[in-house]
Amino acid sequence: AGTVRFEDVRFAYNPERPILRGVSFEVPAGRTVAIVGPSGAGKSTLSRLLFRFYEPQAGRITIDGQDIAAVRQDSLRAAIGMVPQDTVLFNDTIGYNIRYGRWDASEAEVREAARLAQIDRFIESLPEGYETPVGERGLKLSGGEKQRVAIARTILKSPPILVLDEATSALDSFTEREIQAALDRVSRDRTTLVIAHRLSTVVNADEILVLDQGRIVERGDHPTLLTQG
Ligand code: ADP
Ligand code: ADP
Repeated sequence: AGTVRFEDVRFAYNPERPILRGVSFEVPAGRTVAIVGPSGAGKSTLSRLLFRFYEPQAGRITIDGQDIAAVRQDSLRAAIGMVPQDTVLFNDTIGYNIRYGRWDASEAEVREAARLAQIDRFIESLPEGYETPVGERGLKLSGGEKQRVAIARTILKSPPILVLDEATSALDSFTEREIQAALDRVSRDRTTLVIAHRLSTVVNADEILVLDQGRIVERGDHPTLLTQG
């Protein structure tokens, strides 16, 4: 389960300036589709529509054939896991941050998710800027480490659909490779929509869509798009 379809989706924040000008694609259940395109192309807007933060002005978005316009936003949030580019952490331990939304998870499950995301050494730590009542201070996590907290949270939540915001441009290449490996583990066998700036980061996608100025201007697999330049 978990096939996502965009059918001729049109959207504008402001009627004079269309952002999505008729976008159609399908992410078959369990597959990975990447949306690549320059800044401002409408990639984040696509994912906001999938969460129903906004409604399309035309066209529709379905999950397993059901129009999401008829699905409550909290159900969508339960069905779709998001690994954002910038993760904001709550004022509590990294372990709590991983458990967030899965309060029934056992300690062992939280540890296993943290281990898979390679963030287990920080599980008892607090994030930077926070302090316990007895004056213990938080730890400064790098962008990559924060993203791994979000990955661990997603592993624990185990949603059928994933949205990965892979614009990891702020990370060094070693961290980027590590994050990539963790993301590949989470997305295996799950319906996954990857949002990326660069073709080089989406080698494992089954299909890549190039979005530019609100339209899909190219689609294909990684080798095909690379040879086309
Ligand atoms: P991308 O993720 O590809 O960089 P976005 O979907 O964030 O693109 O943005 C697409 C366009 O929509 C941009 O021109 C951006 O300025 C505009 N935009 C994004 N969010 C809003 C908003 N809340 N209100 C008005 N315009 C917006
Ligand atoms: P991202 O999703 O990449 O983290 P944002 O969604 O905050 O970034 O914004 C994406 C782009 O949309 C940025 O260029 C931002 O300036 C623009 N944008 C965001 N909100 C608005 C808005 N309310 N009006 C106009 N442009 C906006």
